[in-house]
Amino acid sequence: MKLTILGSGTFFPELDRHFSSYLVQTDGLNLVFDFGTGVMDGLLKAGLNYYDIDTIFLTHLHPDHFSELPALLFISLAEPPERKLRKRDLVIYGPKGFAEVYEHLEKAFHLKKYQPKYKVIIKELEDNDVTKINECIIKNYRVEHSRSLTCLSYRIESENKILAYSGDSNDCEGLRSTCQNSDLAILEATMEKKLEEGHLNGELSGKIAQESNVQKLVLSHIHSSVIKSYQPVKKAKLYFKGEVLLAKDGMEIEV
Ligand SMILES: [Zn+2]
Ligand SMILES: [Zn+2]
Repeated sequence: MKLTILGSGTFFPELDRHFSSYLVQTDGLNLVFDFGTGVMDGLLKAGLNYYDIDTIFLTHLHPDHFSELPALLFISLAEPPERKLRKRDLVIYGPKGFAEVYEHLEKAFHLKKYQPKYKVIIKELEDNDVTKINECIIKNYRVEHSRSLTCLSYRIESENKILAYSGDSNDCEGLRSTCQNSDLAILEATMEKKLEEGHLNGELSGKIAQESNVQKLVLSHIHSSVIKSYQPVKKAKLYFKGEVLLAKDGMEIEV
């Protein structure tokens, strides 16, 4: 299983830290988790294009986690006849509320008028759903982040390895279940020492990783100013005894 970090930033625009997105390549699949602005740039740099994406999983519907979706839908559905590059269905999983958001996108961007040979399939996940694609198993858990949105984390089990991704989350039961015994956990570390509800920081991520028996920790969803002033990797290492990496756009990790 190979992880490529496409977007390691927050919702503040930064040149070298795009909005949230992660490519997971396993079992012949190209799975993309979250689809924030900058994801296509990252995919092209990783040697892939829009038509290579098999399935997208969205953690929640804050724009920094799915803002590039309209552009993907437009190119995927409206490919010119001489350049029909997408050959298979595009499946997009999201939390409760995603089907309604998709309907709005369809309307706003007049997407229904296009008739591609394949389908765009939208699926809403329930809490604790298990999705199987080929031999790859993706489990989702409800996490605490926003009062008004359903927010999910994902646990990918494939090729005898486990990769956990927090999305945006507090320390909560769902996040702990996601991380338990994982080989690699991507945890958000948005906040500095002062914590606001609905996010983690370096210390808390380190603590969760240690108590959940995680093997390797990647801290992500961080603004460069927080990296400078708060040094989240150092803080995570106060609690976590394994390797801690600071996510960077373009970073590739073999799980
Ligand atoms: Zn969020
Ligand atoms: Zn976010």
